[in-house]
Amino acid sequence: MTLSLKQLLTDHQGSQHDLYADQINPQLVRVLRTIGFDKNYVRGHGALLYDADNNDYLDLLSGYGVFALGRSHPEIRQVLHEALDIDYPNMIQMDAPLIAGLLAKKLTRLMPDPIDTVFFTNSGAEANEAAIKFAKKSTGRNRIVYWDHAFHGLTNGALSLNGGTDFKRDFGPLLPECTMIPMGDIDALKKELETSDVAAFICEPIQGKGVYYAETQFYQEAQRLCRKYGTLLICDEVQSGLCRTGKMFAYEHFGIEPDMICIAKALSGGFIPIGALCYSKKIYHKVYKNMEECVVHSNTFGRNIMACAAGLATLEIMERDRLADNARIMGQKIMDGLTSLVDKYEMLSDIRGKGLMIGIEFCEPKSLRLKTGWKLIHALNAGLFSQMIIIPLMTDHRILTQVAGHNMDIIKLLPPLIIDDTHVNRFLNAFEDVVKQCHRFPGTAWQVGKDLAKAAIKNR
Ligand code: PLP
Repeated sequence: MTLSLKQLLTDHQGSQHDLYADQINPQLVRVLRTIGFDKNYVRGHGALLYDADNNDYLDLLSGYGVFALGRSHPEIRQVLHEALDIDYPNMIQMDAPLIAGLLAKKLTRLMPDPIDTVFFTNSGAEANEAAIKFAKKSTGRNRIVYWDHAFHGLTNGALSLNGGTDFKRDFGPLLPECTMIPMGDIDALKKELETSDVAAFICEPIQGKGVYYAETQFYQEAQRLCRKYGTLLICDEVQSGLCRTGKMFAYEHFGIEPDMICIAKALSGGFIPIGALCYSKKIYHKVYKNMEECVVHSNTFGRNIMACAAGLATLEIMERDRLADNARIMGQKIMDGLTSLVDKYEMLSDIRGKGLMIGIEFCEPKSLRLKTGWKLIHALNAGLFSQMIIIPLMTDHRILTQVAGHNMDIIKLLPPLIIDDTHVNRFLNAFEDVVKQCHRFPGTAWQVGKDLAKAAIKNR
């Protein structure tokens, strides 16, 4: 009997959390259940997810930025069907796949002139791993400089460049020659680069964790110093790239031209994993020095037809539908709406970001009553307050958002780039309702925090 995927999923629908806890990751399922995110989603379309009872959920997380075009985009689906139906020879390996060349050409055309070469990967972390290796081999140096709060993925090399301790703890020694500097600190960068032993400085132009970015001057000076001391400038655009911030790439906001650009997430069209390291022939020739080294860095699934087809279609739609413009316009509407609340609600302190990559930061209140609640919740757990925002957004308004990192009073919005005024208004109304509840102490919002802390203690 042939497998019917639809039947299989229908037969087991509703058992996903038990099965996942049993077979994959019980701790994650505990978290989902504790915060009420254990929904029974059955389909997704555009910016909305639907559960088995046909309730819609506004998805402002978009699979950590994967669903830039929204879910189930009809044209990507059509292209992928076509890719299957034409029976095109895939992953021959000892071959030069046409579709990979076409996608590479389309990508590099979007980038500064010297960037004319692409290494395809299966994920963002893998693109960064390639960047680390290429930087080391092409410069003959080993040291990589990164900044605090950085996130470049969770594989060994990428984790070595993580600007926090939470993900690194207990994983032993990582890459030995990596140096962290404070974010946006040009003197600190200069001090490291001056020694002329740094292969690369890597940064997310706009950081995913906390949605921080530096002054424009920093990026420009960093580029100048990199050039001066022979260090490569790598921009990790895995999250911020491909129209997310209102431009094709976030580095464009700061007037720089990196030597290497890493992308992934949105290039998949939300269907097929793909990543890419985009770089120059100058670097290429130092890595792939001769015929013997023609696959000195390689992988099995990169350049596969499904991933490349999804990538080509994604870029085409992004440009045709001017999604960078939509991200800029909708992002501005959200930021304006949120900023207008800052004076009204004392715990709301900063709204920042670009396009549809938005951070919302909360701070300790001045009024005595609220201060008590704030201190109590933070004493229980430093990351609890953000949960008090994202939980009611989900439970009361069916809106999916995320905390912006460990132990931060910041939540992050990463909506699909196709959102419209309806989605923006739905979020702004819901957000004000949730923030209003938090400004009543004691109240249900604070009880949520206390209940969470109790559940966390019980589960230890
Ligand atoms: N770099 C950045 C900036 C990211 O945000 C992420 C993932 O969130 C990664 C790298 C890792 O990508 P992946 O999860 O595809 O390995």
